[in-house]
Amino acid sequence: MAVQQNRVSRTRRDKRRTHQKLRVVSGSVCPECGAFKRSHCVCSACGFYKNREIIKSEEE
Ligand SMILES: [Zn+2]
Repeated sequence: MAVQQNRVSRTRRDKRRTHQKLRVVSGSVCPECGAFKRSHCVCSACGFYKNREIIKSEEE
């Protein structure tokens, strides 16, 4: 098992964490239902992509 040999300073810890950040996902409004959808992905609300229904909705 790895055992920590030296204490990591606040500066070094925070420098390591500069790479951890949240990304804003790019997206647009779905033309079918108006919900927010990620671009180049099937709409999660209605299942449409390129004006065609890809995923059949369950409530029918
Ligand atoms: Zn939609």
